[in-house]
Amino acid sequence: MYWRVHSFPARISASAGNKLAKRERLPSLLNVMKILKRALLVSCILYPLSVFAASEDELVERARAIHDRVMALDTHADIPLNFATSEFDPGSAEAQVNLDSMEAGGLDAAFFIVYVGQLPRTPENYRLAIADAVTKFDAIHRMTEYMYPGRIGLAQTAAEARQLFAEGKLVAMIGIENGFVLGEDLSLLEDYRRRGARYLTLVHNGHNAIGDSAQPRPQFGDAGPEEHGGLSEFGYRVVEELNRLGILVDVSHVSRQTMLDATRHSKAPVIASHSSVKSVTEHARNMDDEQLQVVRQNGGVVQIVAFNPYLNEGGGADVSMLADHIDYAVNLIGIDHVGISSDFGGGGGITGWNNAGETFNVTLELVRRGYSEENIAKLWSGNVLRVLEEAERVADYK
Ligand SMILES: [Zn+2]
Repeated sequence: MYWRVHSFPARISASAGNKLAKRERLPSLLNVMKILKRALLVSCILYPLSVFAASEDELVERARAIHDRVMALDTHADIPLNFATSEFDPGSAEAQVNLDSMEAGGLDAAFFIVYVGQLPRTPENYRLAIADAVTKFDAIHRMTEYMYPGRIGLAQTAAEARQLFAEGKLVAMIGIENGFVLGEDLSLLEDYRRRGARYLTLVHNGHNAIGDSAQPRPQFGDAGPEEHGGLSEFGYRVVEELNRLGILVDVSHVSRQTMLDATRHSKAPVIASHSSVKSVTEHARNMDDEQLQVVRQNGGVVQIVAFNPYLNEGGGADVSMLADHIDYAVNLIGIDHVGISSDFGGGGGITGWNNAGETFNVTLELVRRGYSEENIAKLWSGNVLRVLEEAERVADYK
């Protein structure tokens, strides 16, 4: 339209001085009026539609740019025992997380989890747990050092994670899920730290030597909802040793009292690597308002998890419900103490974020709700990397 209106008078002026051309000027001006009138009519009809379309397109475009710039770090991605073997290629295996879908979906970093299942607390079962843990540590190293060193690197510190991201590589970090891997032997922790562990989920489903679980398991010998009344004496020593080694204390899965004891005792900020909000959805694995406040006072971070029953008592959840939990936690304890996790491979996954390839949907929902790029960067990785750095400062380990 602009091009036509502009070119029209140019043609008139080219024929200026010509009597015939002067007479042609009147119909020409009428034509201009007609065109303008038609344009006005059309734009009146299309105006509401075009404004909506433009703002939605613009929002998606802005979210894409933010998603590209920000490091999206998922603090809980489980791996199977045959990870990085001929049976399970971490690059392309049919799973919620693989390197192809991480790259395609912009999931830039993940804590790969050395998880060991709970069993009755016997010396034999402790030995089996240690063997499984070592198998998973070795598998993660195999992925980053031998199979895909050009695509993903193992970060042992927050600085290394930022460096790998700056180089355009995916980032792997390691968390251990279930303090059962220690049995009752504190000296194992330093070995796990050397293998790259940066957080330890103190307890899983069932009490262990460290403390009580949010979900006791009578079949493994748990006598009741509480065994230690919170963190055990051994558990207090474990928290101190984790602080010394710069391994984060992970308070997901533990009982309410164990969580409060461990967080108050820790000299470094803690992480709840995959938990959601009890005030929004009632569940034994979620954190109530007092627990969230204690995490804020400690300087730690709660990583809201995309796990259906933790987000919606009725079952199926979606990205909007995940964002409801994020909103609640941010409003209660501030933007510096909240993050995001999936629990992919461990039961996690919701409508809209059911694999690494769909990670953009989370950023889009946050943009839709008015979060700035700076705040999205904090939620996606800034907060947990800050917590890691503070744990590195508290640590007495090189
Ligand atoms: Zn878990």
